[in-house]
Amino acid sequence: MSFDIQKIRQDFPILAQRVNDKPLVYFDNGATSQKPQVVIDAEARYYNEINANIHRGVHHLSQVATDAYEEARVKIQQHLNAKNSFEILFTAGTTFGINLVANGFGQILQPGDEIIVSHLEHHSNIVPWQLACERSGATLKVIPMLADGSLDMEAYTALLNDKTKIVTVNHISNALGTINPVKFIIEKAHEVGAAVLIDGAQAVPHLKPDVQDLDCEFYAFSGHKMCGPTGTGVLYGKEQWLNQLPPYQGGGEMIKEVTFEKTTYACLPHKFEAGTPNIAGGIVLGTAVDYLNGIGFDNIVAYEHQLLEYATKRLSELEDIEFYGTAKEKASVISFNFKGIHPYDVGAIIDKLGIAVRTGHHCAQPIMDYFNIPGTIRASFAFYNTKEEIDQMIEALKKALMMLR
Ligand code: PMP
Repeated sequence: MSFDIQKIRQDFPILAQRVNDKPLVYFDNGATSQKPQVVIDAEARYYNEINANIHRGVHHLSQVATDAYEEARVKIQQHLNAKNSFEILFTAGTTFGINLVANGFGQILQPGDEIIVSHLEHHSNIVPWQLACERSGATLKVIPMLADGSLDMEAYTALLNDKTKIVTVNHISNALGTINPVKFIIEKAHEVGAAVLIDGAQAVPHLKPDVQDLDCEFYAFSGHKMCGPTGTGVLYGKEQWLNQLPPYQGGGEMIKEVTFEKTTYACLPHKFEAGTPNIAGGIVLGTAVDYLNGIGFDNIVAYEHQLLEYATKRLSELEDIEFYGTAKEKASVISFNFKGIHPYDVGAIIDKLGIAVRTGHHCAQPIMDYFNIPGTIRASFAFYNTKEEIDQMIEALKKALMMLR
């Protein structure tokens, strides 16, 4: 398929907006992606045509809604190349998926067991594991980061031992864009019998993970970062692990039988899907996956790489710029600062010129502490951005620097 950027941009109505009387340049894709019209339409179609509760009604609409929801699960199974559709759990997002796993491990780990996270993690892949340690008496170990924003793999292998029960890292760092060597990390963890959870929040908009090839035990991501609705997400888990973990939430739909003496749980995936789920969200996430596959991840990767290279080159022309995260394997995320200038000041000024970037610690304070900075300016690109927009950002940055110096 050819990659027609103008046609793609027309799929996203929000991109035609003006902000502060300037054309919107949306470079905050790491926080959330914009939504194509097909996704917006699918949400409306659900409520206009098939809204009903699922898995419980004998009536027509309930059956139609159930079928659509389960078809979306199968679509996501195929997208991730999972072995079984019941290994795909619908969640409210990455945070929910990680908490589900960490909560389970908090109940099965023993004092002295070890959990390994990395220095590059989002807070949502740190705090749930700290809670699991508090609950179980396990110890948290951290894979150190190197100056270029990559992980120290030698130090990682030295941390592994027979007390390591789970290793958890992000596939791509939201703060720096580093693409981690997750296959190597998983292989090494398996050598000591540890399970691995991959936080795929930042990976799924840019690549198509193959969970069987990776061989990870768990893979968590959010729908809203990959053109889907907010409040949606997926946790992939290997069958034997999902069977082993205790349920996360109790309620309707997750049980086989309930008496006051004892409750038995439903089979997968229902054991982890208590209550009425985000039915519309799950179905529409399937639409978003179809949309992205229609564009093609090979096209997305190649085009975003061009944007990354172009933006890096243009930004390098600016005086006193400092880049954070310069690892060779990198997604289309650039974190930077200007010497002596607070990132927030730059972000606030360029917002007045229509440019949306994120400034701050990006929910990754340990990374900011490593560089001894309060935060960065982060421009994160999607396949619907353009080089012209990068030029607009450069012009806006020049104006901001003139005002601030
Ligand atoms: N992990 C990473 C790497 C992220 O970038 C994010 C979102 N910024 C999360 C986890 C949390 O995702 P959510 O807020 O959608 O649950």
